[in-house]
Amino acid sequence: MARIPINIKTGEIEKQENLIVGIDLGTTNSLVAYSKDGETIVVEDKSGSQKLVPSVLYFDEHNNIVVGQEALEKQLIHPERTIYSVKRLMGKAYKDVGTYENQLGYKIIDTDEEQLVKVEINGSYYSPITLSAEILKALKNRVEEQLGQQVYQAVITVPAYFNDSQRQATRDAGKLAGLNVLRIVNEPTAASLAYGIGQDPEQESTIAVYDLGGGTFDLSILSIQNGIFEVLSTQGDTFLGGDDLDKAIIDYWIEQYALTIDNTIDQQTIRLEAEKAKKALSSSDIYKSTFKEKDLELTQIKFEELINPIIEKTLVHCTNALKDAELTKTDIDEIVMVGGSTRTPHVKSRVSEFFGKKVNDSMNPDEVVAMGAAIQANILAGNEKDILLIDVTPLSLGIETVGGLMDTIIPRNSKVPTRAGRQYTTSVDGQKNLKVAVYQGERDLVDDNRKLGEFILKDIPPMAAGIPKIEVRFILDADGILKVEAEELRSKVMTKVEIRSQYGISEEEMALMLISSIKNAEQDLHKRSLLEARNEGNNIVHSVARFINQNLSWLSEEEQTETKRLSANLQDKIKGDNKDNIQKAIEELNAYTAPLAEKAMDIHVSNALKGTTI
Ligand code: ADP
Ligand code: MG
Repeated sequence: MARIPINIKTGEIEKQENLIVGIDLGTTNSLVAYSKDGETIVVEDKSGSQKLVPSVLYFDEHNNIVVGQEALEKQLIHPERTIYSVKRLMGKAYKDVGTYENQLGYKIIDTDEEQLVKVEINGSYYSPITLSAEILKALKNRVEEQLGQQVYQAVITVPAYFNDSQRQATRDAGKLAGLNVLRIVNEPTAASLAYGIGQDPEQESTIAVYDLGGGTFDLSILSIQNGIFEVLSTQGDTFLGGDDLDKAIIDYWIEQYALTIDNTIDQQTIRLEAEKAKKALSSSDIYKSTFKEKDLELTQIKFEELINPIIEKTLVHCTNALKDAELTKTDIDEIVMVGGSTRTPHVKSRVSEFFGKKVNDSMNPDEVVAMGAAIQANILAGNEKDILLIDVTPLSLGIETVGGLMDTIIPRNSKVPTRAGRQYTTSVDGQKNLKVAVYQGERDLVDDNRKLGEFILKDIPPMAAGIPKIEVRFILDADGILKVEAEELRSKVMTKVEIRSQYGISEEEMALMLISSIKNAEQDLHKRSLLEARNEGNNIVHSVARFINQNLSWLSEEEQTETKRLSANLQDKIKGDNKDNIQKAIEELNAYTAPLAEKAMDIHVSNALKGTTI
């Protein structure tokens, strides 16, 4: 399958060799790298001193955004406007985030349990996708400035455990940043590539990738055959990392020197001091400092003792990952160390002791993922002639959902053959038929994409809206033939069709579709979030109306009037085209009705109890 380099600015097909950058979009730090003349270069900041870009955003009072080190420094003064750990929110609904919200200094919005989360800053609402796009834009600018040339294609890495919706969110962020995301690569795969593992098609091996970053740990076991990487198992803890090492030091100091931590400034100061100590102890035996006029000290030996329980936890995950992959330690050919926290010598030695083998640690652990992404990018650019590329589907495939939105089921550049599915439900009570319209393309609204066909799932037994479980499955074979099946899972009613997705479209047309999706990304996102806010608002208006009807017996006159007033306000805002106003109206309505809903629950429970005999 041919690849066509296109110039996003001019819309022209590019003749010259194209540059594709590799991006490690990390929870704590992000980096960008590229390959040139057989060398892989990680891009530095202007001063040439720093390759890591802290994955932190700061919004000033006029909503101007600063990304990186400068933003990190604002965390102390304006925590509510300094956004970090966005990666943890990617592709997540509010119900997935749970109590984690309490640990963040900024505000997450919970208008609807099922919807993707949003972050509120200065009264505006941002999706994690938009926020990640800002980080990607900063990386894009950095490399463009250094090279003096436009960059519009990238490979971005994600953890092996990321699900489809998290991967899709990462793609969308890339698109929004003006980048054509040619491939999403697993971080452990990228790290192995950086170590040159898997580049020889003859080589077969089994690799363990140990990644201890700032706030996350994962251990992935990969099998490499004929240049193809397969993740055999992945285990880890999304709340275990360098931050915990810092915390161990803080706890020790507080106890040892009877320190008092009075406010957030103290908290941050001691945290920074602990991180400094940790880093220093990666290369010296003792660290000395002061805090509030007290002398602090930490020896390497004591530090190692403090962090042993944390390392122990990671080793339990190693054992579990081996078990999942049905392998033993001796089956592992190489151990690759990734993540800034593996710079701590004690981590390295305990891991190597565990596997009974020396670990791969000759490269910078915080740069290997970005370097691997750049190597993968170079392979995709066709600059590595010896490496085989697997066939991928050139444009995303999906269906139309409420409001004319494109819901992608198979993202572009997915390896073929492939299959994927997603569940939907009805929006009207007693709905008997459901139209499934299949589209191809990268735009957010189906009207801007290419329609491949449509069919109707008939004879769904009458059920209330939201009850039917309709699964739509896409099965794409190696020749680009797409089978689409829709099945109502409760009644087993099913229909299917077959579509030739590549039929009647030239490579040039595909390239043009891609260009338009990137050119219009911002506008599309705006339309999409407005439509989503409207859908969400309409759902809430309906459920609130139903709620009032069902609870007329005990709701006070005032409660009814106020609920109706807020609901009317929401309906009014839905008619407008400002998504923030809609969100605000939803929030107000939710805030008012939440205690009423709780009361209704209590009443139902106590009524139910009255009926029980013991
Ligand atoms: P992520 O992949 O989660 O974005 P990184 O791989 O950049 O994170 O790792 C960041 C972590 O690495 C931080 O906790 C930082 O304190 C730690 N770290 C950086 N340098 C060192 C060092 N020399 N010794 C120990 N830990 C380090
Ligand atoms: Mg990382």
